[in-house]
Amino acid sequence: MTTQQIDVGILGATGTVGQQFIRLLASHPWFRPAWLGASERSEGRAYSDACAWRLPVPLSDGIARMRVDACVPGAAPRLVFSGLDAAAAKDIEPAFAAAGHLVVSNARNFRMEPDVPLLIPEINGDHLALVECQQRARGWSGAIVTNPNCSTVVLSMVLAALRRFDIERVMVTTLQAISGAGYPGVASLDIVGNVVPFISGEEEKIESEPQKILGRLSGSMVTPHPMVISAQTTRVPVVDGHTEAISIGFARVPVIADLRSALETFRGAPQELGLPSAPVHPIAYLDRPERPQPRLDVDRGDGMTVSVGRLRECRVLHHKLVALGHNTVRGAAGAAILNAELMKARGLL
Ligand code: NAP
Repeated sequence: MTTQQIDVGILGATGTVGQQFIRLLASHPWFRPAWLGASERSEGRAYSDACAWRLPVPLSDGIARMRVDACVPGAAPRLVFSGLDAAAAKDIEPAFAAAGHLVVSNARNFRMEPDVPLLIPEINGDHLALVECQQRARGWSGAIVTNPNCSTVVLSMVLAALRRFDIERVMVTTLQAISGAGYPGVASLDIVGNVVPFISGEEEKIESEPQKILGRLSGSMVTPHPMVISAQTTRVPVVDGHTEAISIGFARVPVIADLRSALETFRGAPQELGLPSAPVHPIAYLDRPERPQPRLDVDRGDGMTVSVGRLRECRVLHHKLVALGHNTVRGAAGAAILNAELMKARGLL
């Protein structure tokens, strides 16, 4: 689709999400990592010295030798992906946007700002119109575009597929992978053979982000979807893949066959446009009663497909199911790359 690759930067390139960016961009047809940024601990060092590479694919010599820069605007290309820690993203991302960079971010800081798109390209690509409002309101020549929390992505994909049945209430319990906490993350003595029933700040994000994502854009405003969500989050001894047990109450109660069909036929702009990171099936329905499982299903669609199973009636709300998504791919780096692909397709780069 394109002959010349676009140079991109990665803020937080040495972290868990940053490493996924490096892996996914290694063979990307449109984007080429040309600049890497991280903290002063890493600044000035070769990438292979600054980060302990922990993905089960080899690091290319070219990336291994790249020098890690400080996260200050200037030398980086116009498009930068961010896998920054929230404490660092707070000041660094707006500084880059003010300096003319398009920051495609994983961090939580700006997701709920009214003029910042909180994007899942299959659901709300039209929210990219907020970029212009953001630039006008803040006087930025760049912008910040965000992807949701890693559990929110999985939940929102399911809810978007079922929205035509008028969702009113949602209850979700998550079983979240250790990689969701970054590296070194949760202490092994806390997580091996154990379940930790608290992830700081996570329930609040899952209870508020999907309403913005499924919200209606009119002018420069997103009116949130009116559904109410109650979330309980747990950390479990799984390496990659967030599993979610979801119950949904509808205004118009559908039959199971219609729900299943809606899940299986769910498609969006990435599939229509044939974006490079778009999975053919954004949601895969698995028939076997013991699926989805993180170890078996997390890499479906190169980590971009949400796997769903166990659709059945719920005796409290109307229906319930189990969903699984790759937290550092569909829930982080892959999500941001798909966002940037949509931005390119819509002429925003
Ligand atoms: P991580 O492994 O702790 O990596 C954090 C990165 O930020 C590292 O590259 C680190 O560089 C850099 N950094 C920290 N402080 C900095 C500073 N003061 N200045 C510049 N760079 C700094 O974290 P992660 O799991 O990759 O998460 C990154 C972001 O993505 C977070 O905002 C997180 O909430 C979000 N997120 C994570 C997931 C997931 O599944 N892990 C999913 C969705 C969203 P050094 O190596 O030099 O310290």
